[in-house]
Amino acid sequence: MSKIARKKQKNLIKEIVTQRMWRLFELAKKEHAEHPDRSERYVQLIRNISMRNRTSIPREIKSRICKYCYAFLVPGKNARYRLKEGYIIISCQRCGKEMRYPYKKLK
Ligand SMILES: [Zn+2]
Repeated sequence: MSKIARKKQKNLIKEIVTQRMWRLFELAKKEHAEHPDRSERYVQLIRNISMRNRTSIPREIKSRICKYCYAFLVPGKNARYRLKEGYIIISCQRCGKEMRYPYKKLK
């Protein structure tokens, strides 16, 4: 395979992997109200896929997963979102830890 073809294939895999993560994320969102344990399972799957394919989790999804205990975060339910000096500060109410992400990069 030529170098370009290989690169193309890599991009394609990345695209498919990212799509799959979004689909799992949507499922996690949908299930959270009634089956929070299922959401956790989806979060686990997203992380596994990301690690196995060395593809980073889209920022929008990442900001909904606790970096420390991997809880699926729902604003106003088990997480608090605050804005401060260009950062979004997310507190996970399960483990009590805080994460911060630059606000501008979040859609
Ligand atoms: Zn947590």
